[in-house]
Amino acid sequence: MLNRISIIAIITIAIFSLNSCSSWLGKVNIFPVEQDVTLGKQVSQSFEQGNASMIMDSSKNTVVYRYIYGIRDSILKTNLLIHKNDFAWRIRIIQNDTIQNAFCTPGGYIYVYTGLMKYLEGEDQLAGVMGHEMAHAEKRHSTDAMTREFGANLLLELIFGQNKAQLLQIATGLAQLEFGRDAETEADNCSVDWLYQTAYNPIGAAGFFEKIQKEKNKINIPEFLSTHPDPGHRVENMKKRWSDKGSKQGQTFTDRYKRMLNYLPK
Ligand SMILES: [Zn+2]
Repeated sequence: MLNRISIIAIITIAIFSLNSCSSWLGKVNIFPVEQDVTLGKQVSQSFEQGNASMIMDSSKNTVVYRYIYGIRDSILKTNLLIHKNDFAWRIRIIQNDTIQNAFCTPGGYIYVYTGLMKYLEGEDQLAGVMGHEMAHAEKRHSTDAMTREFGANLLLELIFGQNKAQLLQIATGLAQLEFGRDAETEADNCSVDWLYQTAYNPIGAAGFFEKIQKEKNKINIPEFLSTHPDPGHRVENMKKRWSDKGSKQGQTFTDRYKRMLNYLPK
């Protein structure tokens, strides 16, 4: 169990450590990392109870799950994620063709809608979006946002005090918590940095944004766009980051992506 002195140490480290995808300092996250895992588990359980009939069974849909876990593994194998081994990084595919979205809880429970998979045009785009979502967990944006929203003192009382029920209540509201603009930029940057170390086209996520901009009236606006008014700016930012790193070309794996789609329910 962490005592208050370790918490102060954690805060100090959070303030003074510069993380790889980030371009600014000064994050203060009051939560111990284990709390991200616990909260994530609770949020994922409550989400899955509420959407049980839509979660695709991983023991029956082995082809698509093997495929999507392969993408996750390519990202984790870069060794750029400090929570590679202590977060779950578990994936569930949600069978709903009308939603073009993906999200990731604290502690790395990843959810991808079939609507997004069918909308995207290549494996690089799915990898880019997954990288973006995984970055929200890796960079602990939810517990950052909770610290900002509820204040350190209240949260310390909840983590170390008797009132666990209230913490659970906050955790279940987590899915509705919006990330700020800075968090979105950081997640975009991580997506480019991580994919840059794989075989993928490093700006796969930008390809998704461009497609959405072209067809914006046709789909539900997903999480990636909801907190940022200007996706064009995000595409520019990702392309600049990619060219600053040396403009390495990567693969889109379009053919095998299309083959995988045949294994999704029609
Ligand atoms: Zn995001």
